[in-house]
Amino acid sequence: MLRPAFLAPVVDLLFPPRCPLCGATLAMHGGLCAACWANLEIRGAGLRAVPAPAGNNAGA
Ligand SMILES: [Zn+2]
Repeated sequence: MLRPAFLAPVVDLLFPPRCPLCGATLAMHGGLCAACWANLEIRGAGLRAVPAPAGNNAGA
């Protein structure tokens, strides 16, 4: 969502940034809380948490 920078404090006041997984309050939008990052690292061991960009597969 595109939003002007000067509106960010107002948006944060109306819609406080929260972790999309557990709902914990965050310092800024667009991330997970520390607990969820830790869970992702454990559950994602050996897996790629972030998909590789399209067209970047050397073997495919
Ligand atoms: Zn969380």
